[in-house]
Amino acid sequence: MPVFTDTHAHLYFHQFDHDRNAMIQRALNNGVTRLFLPNVDSETIAAMYQTIDAHPHHCFPMMGVHPCSIKANFEKELALAEQELKHSGRRFYAVGEIGLDFYWDVTYRKQQFEALERQIAWAKELQLPIVLHCRESFAETFELVKNQAAGGGLSGVFHCFGGTVADAGKVAALGNFYMGIGGTLTYKKSELPEVIAAVDLQYIVLETDAPYLAPEPYRSAKNPAEKRNESAYVVNVAQRIAEIKRLSIDEVATTTTQNALTLFKMN
Ligand SMILES: [Zn+2]
Repeated sequence: MPVFTDTHAHLYFHQFDHDRNAMIQRALNNGVTRLFLPNVDSETIAAMYQTIDAHPHHCFPMMGVHPCSIKANFEKELALAEQELKHSGRRFYAVGEIGLDFYWDVTYRKQQFEALERQIAWAKELQLPIVLHCRESFAETFELVKNQAAGGGLSGVFHCFGGTVADAGKVAALGNFYMGIGGTLTYKKSELPEVIAAVDLQYIVLETDAPYLAPEPYRSAKNPAEKRNESAYVVNVAQRIAEIKRLSIDEVATTTTQNALTLFKMN
């Protein structure tokens, strides 16, 4: 059976509190054997550790502060994440998720830039990849990352990539960066199929962003309870990529898992 990797899943969120173990078992049954968990902020750390500690062979943590959690108290948030990252004794696989989000709120725009730069500095220091969230901010995020990557030694992924073919070309040209592709690829109005057709599979990793952004047919499910995304559905995304690129699903699984292992420095 092909082995898939979910490079971005918030499996510790409350949406999974009633069936988390069963949900992770469904992922394993589907061949989704590695699940990477991005942190959000100080309020999510304990729950993330609980999930990681219950599934140490399949769940792998990241540490960072999400741009939507960069507010007036951001110095405190950063200090806490840095403490966990450097002194908790735990192994983290990336600094994430970090980035810029100008969709929800731009009040702390300046602080978002500062927090992103500081967290990229941790990643460089610890030689960890970065997992980037950018919403309504691809140009700004790309510019900052490009400058930070110029000296070498920085790698990462643009999670939930939603850019154009030209944007994808820019990410690929960075060299050590990937595009995270999830459920939005399966949406009717998505322009991502064109991007997937144009981009070499070597730059793509799979993700769910669970519990959000369920792929079709789950997104259109009549029962609201079925709209929740989970890691098993990464297979639906792989299937869509296989159709677009006229590859076997095994080939998509193998290459994107290899990409994920390279991204997270696990090989
Ligand atoms: Zn996320």
